[in-house]
Amino acid sequence: MRRVAVISLHTSPLLQPGSGDSGGMNVYVRELVSSLSQAGLECTTYTRADREGLPSEVIVEPNHKVVYIEAGPHHLPKEALPEIIDEFTDRVLEHLLANGGADAVHANYWLSGVAAHRIKHELDIPFVSTFHTLARVKSEGGDPEPGWRDRAEAELINCADAICVSCVEEEEQFRRLYGDPKGLIEIVAPGVEHAFFAPGDRAGARAALDLPRAAPVLLFVGRIQPLKGPDVAIRALHALHRPDALLLVVGGASGSSGDGEIERAHQLVDELGLHDQVRFVPPQPHHILSTYYRAADVVLVPSRSESFGLVALEAAACGIPVVANAVGGLKSLVDHGQTGFLISERAPAVFAAAVAAVLDDPMLAAAMSSAAATKARQYTWGFAAARLRRLYTDLTARQLVLGE
Ligand code: UDP
Repeated sequence: MRRVAVISLHTSPLLQPGSGDSGGMNVYVRELVSSLSQAGLECTTYTRADREGLPSEVIVEPNHKVVYIEAGPHHLPKEALPEIIDEFTDRVLEHLLANGGADAVHANYWLSGVAAHRIKHELDIPFVSTFHTLARVKSEGGDPEPGWRDRAEAELINCADAICVSCVEEEEQFRRLYGDPKGLIEIVAPGVEHAFFAPGDRAGARAALDLPRAAPVLLFVGRIQPLKGPDVAIRALHALHRPDALLLVVGGASGSSGDGEIERAHQLVDELGLHDQVRFVPPQPHHILSTYYRAADVVLVPSRSESFGLVALEAAACGIPVVANAVGGLKSLVDHGQTGFLISERAPAVFAAAVAAVLDDPMLAAAMSSAAATKARQYTWGFAAARLRRLYTDLTARQLVLGE
């Protein structure tokens, strides 16, 4: 096992996360591929050229390059991308054949999976998929997806040699919704860059962000779309009944309903009279976020569904208690009552009560902070890459899965 073709069709791992189609998957692909390449694998990530003026390839570091593939007009909404998958796949195959091929293809998200599925059969190599989100999981959380996406995912699941999930909870959910796949299910927990995300000085972080030294600070970080529940965070602040408390909402609009969600969030702030208490902050460079986490007393993650939830991990790595909806990977990341609270009702008042429990009890807050940072230490990209390397090697010694 020497060379891996990584597919990230709809979004480049080199984009800044936090708005549009750029979020946890971009961080996952960039960090994981970086760790794989540092371990000696030759990795090429293929992504679609979505802007004018991009180079044909970027050498990110030794063994690690990103290749921009021209397929369809540059500016296409995500909903139109299924139409260009064939063209994208043709170009990736041309590039692979001209550059010595690959020993495995690893797709991220279903659009990339459709491309990788064809590449598997054309090159006779194992196909690994990390779906990041799945139609049935989103539907269960109240965000229905079209039937054709579900059918496409079912076809990919049927022919994937391995499917990567982030934790036991995600594996259980996968088996419950899709049954047992023919290929392997591998748990590859994402990591966190501990060099950036580590406990630090709260007063210094607040001074850097021009925040009051003593007021309670709640933090929401992520792409703004209904699924992420920024409205729940705002309503939780309201239900807290603490006029001195602040809520920072860091991130930009994402998806077709993203702009509307930002508007709704502003309206909600107006309606609830929270002008002086809510600050909307545009997307921040990934490493800068550590300052925001360190400045916070509590991080809120009220998502309707979440395959993993890197924000919750980054907050924990900075020693900040997390109050999260009890879904998907968040259930494995947050130890209820130890590193934060898991909320099963997604009701703002319940979030507020959990936040108050942390704010009102400095001993509990300190214990949670230390437990969160300790727990987060077990998640590293190096460990995730080691699991993946072993998986790739195992797959080359197995017969390829053949779907009907
Ligand atoms: N993020 C960022 N800047 C921002 C907002 C978010 O770098 O302004 C990053 C954040 O640090 C995290 C990722 O975007 O690594 C979001 O990942 P998560 O798994 O929480 O959500 P997803 O985007 O995958 O739904």
